[in-house]
Amino acid sequence: LRPFEFVTAHSAEDAVAALAQHGPDAKPIAGCTDLLVDIKHETAAAKVLVDISRIPEIRGIEMTGAGLRIGAATTHTEIMEHPLIQKHAPALIDAAHTVGAVQTRNLGTLAGNLVTCVPSMDSGPALMALEAYVNVLGVKGMRKLTLEELFVGPRKTALKPDEILLDIVIPKENVGKSAAFLKFGLRKGQALALVNAAVALNVAGGKITEPRIALGAVAPVVMRAKKAEAALEGKKTDDTAAIEKAAAIAVTEAKPIDDFRASAEYRRHLIRVLTRRCIEAALAGAAGKK
Ligand SMILES: Cc1cc2nc3c(=O)[nH]c(=O)nc-3n(C[C@H](O)[C@H](O)[C@H](O)COP(=O)(O)OP(=O)(O)OC[C@H]3O[C@@H](n4cnc5c(N)ncnc54)[C@H](O)[C@@H]3O)c2cc1C
Repeated sequence: LRPFEFVTAHSAEDAVAALAQHGPDAKPIAGCTDLLVDIKHETAAAKVLVDISRIPEIRGIEMTGAGLRIGAATTHTEIMEHPLIQKHAPALIDAAHTVGAVQTRNLGTLAGNLVTCVPSMDSGPALMALEAYVNVLGVKGMRKLTLEELFVGPRKTALKPDEILLDIVIPKENVGKSAAFLKFGLRKGQALALVNAAVALNVAGGKITEPRIALGAVAPVVMRAKKAEAALEGKKTDDTAAIEKAAAIAVTEAKPIDDFRASAEYRRHLIRVLTRRCIEAALAGAAGKK
């Protein structure tokens, strides 16, 4: 392991000050499940690690006036077990449940998953379908970013070196919106997604409204399939042809690649199947709520 300096931050301001002091040489760490791999293998790995995992204000899950707030350092296991998530955003549990194995979920955090910013991240699609945003703190103060703004490229976010994620918020109008997440990997556990997908939607008067479709592992960053969403808007909930068509349109919006895990052609097939199944599952969830 390469040598590094270790700083324990006791507050978000502490963490930001330490990051600003050390510049691009420093990085925040939470569960360290991703960063430790970088430190072992990358020559440009961080020289100063700022531990943010014990900062109380960036942990916890609560309902606020803005919506459902998940502290940045909340672990995947905490998400799976929390009653507010179970009640209002169960698709996040389906996503968290697929991350690595128990040990990874016990240590790995939601913010760590988003900031690592690999296209196959499992937290991204469900949060993006629910139009979640993140609150970020840096030396210049707070700012709010949508996930589409946060994700810039593979392993690249819009965060500045002194900035940390404080929390992730599902806006109040989407709390309880019916949503579904599905992942397809080469194994049931301990496998990165070949494709993952999430759909959130409302149903009014027997019609689909405000559908949101997000896809992972099929483009440089987790993406929305906005043409597919537009094709689904206002369609009857039992219009299976429209659902099939929206899933087919989602395929045309994605840019999957060939790699050692799967061909682009196979990924295109998975996008269509997973999008259709997520729409059906979200519709079933909406019907169940009634
Ligand atoms: C064996 C194994 C299996 C895995 N399987 C999966 C999987 O199936 N699906 C999946 O999506 N991921 C998987 N991962 C990746 C990883 O576990 C998750 O991405 C995890 O959520 C990362 O969280 P962490 O707290 O450990 O991040 P860390 O390693 O602590 O940090 C990761 C990155 O995020 C930054 N960071 C962390 N917190 C903040 C913050 N609050 N503000 C700003 N930057 C921050 C760090 O600086 C670093 O750049 C796996 C990892 C391992 C080792």
